[in-house]
Amino acid sequence: MTRMKDFVHQPKLTHLIIVAGGPGMRLATVAGNLPKALVTVGGKPVLQHQLELAARTGIEKVTIFAGYLAEQIDAFVGDGSRFGLRVCIFTEKQPLGNAGATLQNLDRLPQHFFVVYGDLMLAVDLQRIANCHIEREADFTLMVHPNDHPQDSDLVEADTNDWVTAVHTCPHPADRFFSNLVNAAVYVVRREALRPWAGLAGKWDFAKDIIPRLVADGCHMLAYRSDEYLKDIGTPARLQSAEADWKAGRISFDRSNRSRPAIFLDRDGTLNVEKGHLRAAKDLELFPGVAPALRSLRQSGFRLIVLTNQPVLARGETTEAELAAIHRRLEWELGKDGAYLDAIYVCPHHPDGGFPGERKELKVHCDCRKPGTGLLEQACQDLRIDVSNSWMVGDQTRDIEMARRAGLRSVLVQTGSAGSDGQFPAVPNHIAGDLAAAANVILQHKGFAPG
Ligand SMILES: [Zn+2]
Repeated sequence: MTRMKDFVHQPKLTHLIIVAGGPGMRLATVAGNLPKALVTVGGKPVLQHQLELAARTGIEKVTIFAGYLAEQIDAFVGDGSRFGLRVCIFTEKQPLGNAGATLQNLDRLPQHFFVVYGDLMLAVDLQRIANCHIEREADFTLMVHPNDHPQDSDLVEADTNDWVTAVHTCPHPADRFFSNLVNAAVYVVRREALRPWAGLAGKWDFAKDIIPRLVADGCHMLAYRSDEYLKDIGTPARLQSAEADWKAGRISFDRSNRSRPAIFLDRDGTLNVEKGHLRAAKDLELFPGVAPALRSLRQSGFRLIVLTNQPVLARGETTEAELAAIHRRLEWELGKDGAYLDAIYVCPHHPDGGFPGERKELKVHCDCRKPGTGLLEQACQDLRIDVSNSWMVGDQTRDIEMARRAGLRSVLVQTGSAGSDGQFPAVPNHIAGDLAAAANVILQHKGFAPG
C-alpha cells in the first residue's frame, strides 16, 4: 500500500467537491430534519469541520453538490468567505447519487480535483494524497483503510504496487471473506478519467457504479492507505462514536501526524490456535477474547501490527496465495467483532535446507525471521510508531528475544507453546494467560499515557 510520507509540500490541488447528498435517513432519530452535512459533532456541523480542514490543507475552491434541504446548506455556508474559501453550491433538482452531479458538471472542473462525501469526519492531509496521485500518475486515487465494520463497507483489493485490482461492494456474500481494505470515500480524480460518463443523466454512485467500471476498464486506480482519522457519521452509533472521538481529542489534524505506540503481535499461538503449521484459511481459529482485547488496546491509542514467521512458505508447505487467504480470513473474523489490524508483516524464510518441496530462494539466513528485528524495522519505516511505548506479545521465546533486541517491553502468553520451546533465554517483562489478559497487563501498566 502507498504509505503516508513526511515531507513539506506545496498545495498541488486546490479544488474540493463535497457531495452533501440526501437526507440522513438512518440518522433521522438523532438528527431530525437536517441534511447529513449539517449534523453536528462537537457542536459544529460536519460540513464546517470539512471546510475548516479544506482551508487548512491548501484548498481554495469548494463545490458543494447539495440535494436534500440545499437551502439550509446555502444559508449556513454562503460564499464560503468566512472559512477563507470560495464556495459554490449546486442544488440538484432530483437526486443524482454521489457522482451524478460531478458527471454533469465535468467541464467546469479542473484537471484534477478531490471528492469527499458530506457525512465524513476527517483529519486528513489532502495534499499528501494529491502528491501521491500526481507522482504515480493515477487516474483515480482512493483513500483506503481498515475499519471496525468491513462486513457492511465497500472493499477493494490492491496489488503490491498499490494499484486496485478488484472492488467488492456490499452486501458481501456470506460464504466469502475479504481483506479489511475499505474505500474511505476520499478521492482524487483525474477529470478525463470520467470523460466516458460526462453529461450522463441519472443517478450515479462513485463506489457502486463508477469505481467498479473504472477498474474493469483497466484505469490506473491507486489505493492510498492511511491511518489518519476518518469516520462516517451515517448511523446513530457512528455519530455517537465520532462525538466520543471529538471529546477525547482524537479528531485532530496534528494528532493524525503524531507517532503512536504499537502492540506488535505474534500470530500462531497468540491470536489463533496453533494447529501444527497453519496452511489453509479454513483451519484458522481465533482464540476466544482476541477481538475484544484488540478493540480495547486500539481504543487506548495503540496501533496493532502482526509480525509472523511463516517458514511454511520456504518449506513449500503453503503458497503466498493461500497465506493471503489466511490473512483475509483473519481480518474478516476480527472485523465481525469490531476489531482490525493496521498491518501484517511476514518473514517467508527458513535457514535450514533439506525439506522435500522446499523453495531454495527462501532458504536463506535473513534479518526478518524473529528473533531478528527486520519485520519490526520495516513496520517502523512504514508507519509512525513510538517505539519507546510499544510492546511485543507472543507465545514463543523468539518473540520475547526479538522484543529484548528491539528494546520493547514484552508479554509472554500462556497459549500456543507458552514459552516452552526453550530456544532463547530471554525473560519476558510479564506473563499472561492469554491475549485478553496481556491486554489488561498493558493497559494497567504504570506510566502508560494513552496517545
Ligand atoms: Zn525473513
